[in-house]
Amino acid sequence: MNNLPTIQDQISGQRQYDFVAKFNYIREAGTDAEHRAADTICQELAAMGLQGRLEPFTFPVPVIQTASFTVTAPYQKEYAATGCGFCENTPEEGIEADFLYVENADAISLREAQGKIIMLNGPVRGPQYQRLRSSGALGFLCVGGTPLDAGEKRIPAPVCLPNRPETPCMPGASIHYLDAVELIAQGASRARLTVLQSHDVHTSGNVAVRIEGRDKKDEILTVTAHYDSVPAGPGAYDNMAGCAIVMELCRYFQANPPRRTMEFIWFGGEEKGMLGSAAYVKAHEDELSRHRFNMNIDLAGQAIGGNVIGATTPASACALLEELGAKSGIGMSVRHNVWISATNTFAWMGIPAITLNRDGFGMHTEHDTIDLISPWSLKRSAVLLGTIAEALSESEEFPIGRDIPEEFLKKLDLQFERFE
Ligand SMILES: [Zn+2]
Repeated sequence: MNNLPTIQDQISGQRQYDFVAKFNYIREAGTDAEHRAADTICQELAAMGLQGRLEPFTFPVPVIQTASFTVTAPYQKEYAATGCGFCENTPEEGIEADFLYVENADAISLREAQGKIIMLNGPVRGPQYQRLRSSGALGFLCVGGTPLDAGEKRIPAPVCLPNRPETPCMPGASIHYLDAVELIAQGASRARLTVLQSHDVHTSGNVAVRIEGRDKKDEILTVTAHYDSVPAGPGAYDNMAGCAIVMELCRYFQANPPRRTMEFIWFGGEEKGMLGSAAYVKAHEDELSRHRFNMNIDLAGQAIGGNVIGATTPASACALLEELGAKSGIGMSVRHNVWISATNTFAWMGIPAITLNRDGFGMHTEHDTIDLISPWSLKRSAVLLGTIAEALSESEEFPIGRDIPEEFLKKLDLQFERFE
């Protein structure tokens, strides 16, 4: 036994909470607010005597000029619509075709899609997007909102396809849930769709700081979280709380230098489709072979909830992660799967990765504010991840290999097709 301070003694929940409180505003990628948040993270590092590197990157943002959707048979009516970001343009006069509702864009419904304007249930997600592209449809509508929306909330939700302007899909637009119900009730059978858009280029950036390892300095572990938010709310739970944990662990490992090199990274642009982590792996391509492990945090800090570690790793790593987590005394469970977070970008590059995730309330809504963030919860999550990070850093041989399961890599291929 000794009296050295433990990780429990050195990690502060209140300090993390105070950090989150500095960012109680919306930080959409590419906006001044997001840039201001990056500056604040750099200032926080400077106050600790560390120099953060800002690594800027650019990304395209769709600019919708025109979007309209009109039923032409068996009745005539124009509905409020917004264009789908990064879809193909129609001719200026639009396209007119038979209209068909294809529900979840399942294979059976899509059999009849050839040459038609189709409507699908909800936004366009990864696998549907592949099916839409090969269905022969001329255009599509997706549906957003809820039957409860009224007043200024009863508008088509902005949507963006998971591709990039270089590879446009067919023309598409979004309409409101209640209008979609009307289309079906009225038996809409023919429609005209017009979508014209261009795109601007915006700038975001990652903030990173490196703490060199004591003796295995060529081996790199990353501790990461995204600091941008969706436009709907200030993203305290998703994900400034995650950023606070990264900052707290950076402070801890500055005071307790790790055996392996640790890079702490705050990603911009994650809510626009994991842009920050993608930019990071691209900018650091030459040293990725030295990366051993990525530890990411996405969704953290609420009192009510539980800790889950999503492990995109070889199956054998799960038992080890459970054992290391148990050492911290903080409750958690490990799920061996592909998560939807920055972790994926590393895993896709063959670097095993985990995302520490806490279930909670209000993600991607105006309700995601600091009101539900708890110093108690922040402390526990930081101690949990810090315990795992420290044990991995101190191990003689790095205990987790690069043999990520083939089925995970296939899922990731599908997800990242847009980058090719
Ligand atoms: Zn997030």
